[in-house]
Amino acid sequence: MHTETQSSITTFAECKEKYRLAYLLNGHGIRPVGHVWPFFTGENIHRSVASLYKGLSLPKVLHWIDHRHLQLQGRLSAAQMQVSEMERSMIRGAITGYASKYKKEIAGVGKKKFNQFEIPIDWNLDLRGRPIRIRGSMDMLGSSDKFVYIGETKSTSQISQSIKQDIELAPQTMLYFISYFEQFTPPKGKRVRILFNYIRKSLLRQKKNESIQQFMARVQEDYLTRPDHYYHREVVERTTVETLRFKQELLKILRDIRITKKYNLWYKNRKACNARGRCPFFDICLYGEVDSVMAMYRNKTAKHEELTGSTNG
Ligand code: SF4
Repeated sequence: MHTETQSSITTFAECKEKYRLAYLLNGHGIRPVGHVWPFFTGENIHRSVASLYKGLSLPKVLHWIDHRHLQLQGRLSAAQMQVSEMERSMIRGAITGYASKYKKEIAGVGKKKFNQFEIPIDWNLDLRGRPIRIRGSMDMLGSSDKFVYIGETKSTSQISQSIKQDIELAPQTMLYFISYFEQFTPPKGKRVRILFNYIRKSLLRQKKNESIQQFMARVQEDYLTRPDHYYHREVVERTTVETLRFKQELLKILRDIRITKKYNLWYKNRKACNARGRCPFFDICLYGEVDSVMAMYRNKTAKHEELTGSTNG
């Protein structure tokens, strides 16, 4: 069965050329060599936040982060290990600050209570007789007296004014709503909301003559003393009519993906190049697929696990 994910659909809607490069070129798409963080910052932040809500104590979560870092030894170069060390410091600080700021919520005594984590999104949509599998995941699910909350944690370098506009319009936002209603039924009388949970990455860098322990303590202190700078939340709610309207839009996007692939109708959306930071494929679009540029990318060795099991043809 043909499969698309939240990310692939969002990428296609953003720029068709980006979808081709990220998911199809040379088999499974390509990724920039230099942009791959050795410590997988986003994934580790997501898993650490979920662990706090699941009841793991902060020292145990920090120990888990240290363990993840140690596992990289022998697999990374000395330079990469240094980057990984900085990321470890940043994640430790971010999680310590998060545990302090959202202490009540984590303990389950606040208004919102989260009780499900890393919930798979997996449902089928019929596109003119052809089933399409939609996959992805929700970070957290919880509720308050009046609302069901889909919690989505995002680690980001900047928290700008445009974040609200971006999430209001992003196809990913509507995909969460549709996926929720495809897989769950909200308790009677409760409305469904998405809580975007932003954690800003620290821009502090290790100083000359500063040990890693001193640096780690400085980063942690900064997260603890400036919570409003590092943590931000946005809530989005949609009416049933808006959700159904987007479902129509989703069907059109999926049909468009099929036709664009079948007839090789790729084109660039130049407005997307710098919309959310510099696109990782910018050099390819600027200079073409020449050897000197392509040397900065490597082929993905397999489809993303959410896309496996599909024919994708
Ligand atoms: S650089 Fe711009 S046109 Fe090229 S793939 Fe990225 S978003 Fe699309």
